[in-house]
Amino acid sequence: RSSASSVGTILTNLQHESATPLPVLRHVADAMTEDMRAGLAVEGGSDLKMILSYVDALPSGNEKGLFYALDLGGTNFRVLRVQLGGKEERVIATESEQVSIPKELMSGTSEQLFDFIANGLATFAEVEGGNFRLPHGRQREIGFTFSFPVMQTSIDSGILMKWTKGFSVSGTAGRDVVACLNEAMERQALDMRVSALVNDTVGALAGARYWDDDVMVAVILGTGTNACYVERTDAIPRLHGTMSASGMTIINTEWGAFSNGIPLTVFDKDMDAASINPGEQIFEKTISGMYLGEIARRVLLKMAEEGDLFGRRFPEKLTTPFSLRTPDLCAMQQDDSDDLQAVGSILYNATQKVESNLSSRKVALEVCDAIVKRGGRLAGAGIVGILQKMDQDSKGSIYGKRTVVAMDGGLYEHYPQYRGYMQRAVEELLGSEISRNIVIEHSKDGSGIGAALLAATNSKYE
Ligand code: ADP
Repeated sequence: RSSASSVGTILTNLQHESATPLPVLRHVADAMTEDMRAGLAVEGGSDLKMILSYVDALPSGNEKGLFYALDLGGTNFRVLRVQLGGKEERVIATESEQVSIPKELMSGTSEQLFDFIANGLATFAEVEGGNFRLPHGRQREIGFTFSFPVMQTSIDSGILMKWTKGFSVSGTAGRDVVACLNEAMERQALDMRVSALVNDTVGALAGARYWDDDVMVAVILGTGTNACYVERTDAIPRLHGTMSASGMTIINTEWGAFSNGIPLTVFDKDMDAASINPGEQIFEKTISGMYLGEIARRVLLKMAEEGDLFGRRFPEKLTTPFSLRTPDLCAMQQDDSDDLQAVGSILYNATQKVESNLSSRKVALEVCDAIVKRGGRLAGAGIVGILQKMDQDSKGSIYGKRTVVAMDGGLYEHYPQYRGYMQRAVEELLGSEISRNIVIEHSKDGSGIGAALLAATNSKYE
């Protein structure tokens, strides 16, 4: 083992290679805009799939009745019901439940996963309290949020292209996920119907728009990441002139697959090579919650292997992939004590009882900061890429008036430093005048109610 200087060198290199000065951000934002255009021009024309959502109408506030939502998108599976009362009464009641997905189901068979979901839904639907009323003779309708890349074929069907975010379930890719769910519901004798299949970003956009007409973009920053926005049908060459009645539609960008101009370190490249999808989801791997902790782990491990980050003791546990999690980085960065107590105890746990001194703790914080700063700033550049595309095509009607970007996801919600870096990057890119019109805010309802609202908008009874 060599000296403290190699720890310093590793840190300096990390900071240098992950730096995102304004010109880099500008390049990323411009490349995002260009990739969006290329994806809208031809199918497969870009890293960005620019998936048609078949959502051509957003909630107006007039929706009424009982609707269900079901959300599969990552570490958890959520079921929800909502009783909508129209413009005056709005959301009369909601109830929801969350079930964590057993790890083995994330790499099991399609039937096992969908049976588990249908079973959770059946259990939840069994107990419908007094505030919820389904008109006689109606089937319960579901908005199904499924946040993996799906090629939609209509509002209520879509083919799974590939699993992401650590899922590798066999037998679903290439199939209609609504059919998979319907078959599982039949096996449970559960009489419900999916009336809208929505990506979680699309659900978040719908949920936020229900309360605020200026919402034009939705971004999810959780385990994974994605963004969608309101597009004019006449700006989608791939549609060959097919217009929706409203003249608009929501485009699911699948921006996690973006890769153009992202500054990558050796740690990112190694993590990517070891991942289940090497070379894919590069933007996601630099900005989303699943990966930030893992990148930091790799840096700290190298500092322990090649330097003396933890003195003479080798932190064996740090060799385990994903043993340091993004919430750990977040907790470390909230520590404002003089001796960095909390940082010390998180490192102690992460290394299985290797003590750290104050200077190692400071280094660990610098590592977290470099990774989180890049993540937040790149996310901000991505948002500007979308806004810029919309503004160019609408002759200034995005930057020139109040425009809301609805944010959702655990990373955005819980990580103040990340949020701050993201917001400041947007301001740097747009300048102070335009940024005053751009409101980036946490979406109140999350994607859950949004999906139920889209089930209402697309109800077979309307
Ligand atoms: P999903 O798994 O569906 O994306 P969420 O939107 O709730 O669910 O996001 C969960 C992710 O958010 C976690 O995987 C983690 O990366 C991140 N996260 C959760 N809590 C925190 C936290 N306290 N600090 C930082 N990141 C967090």
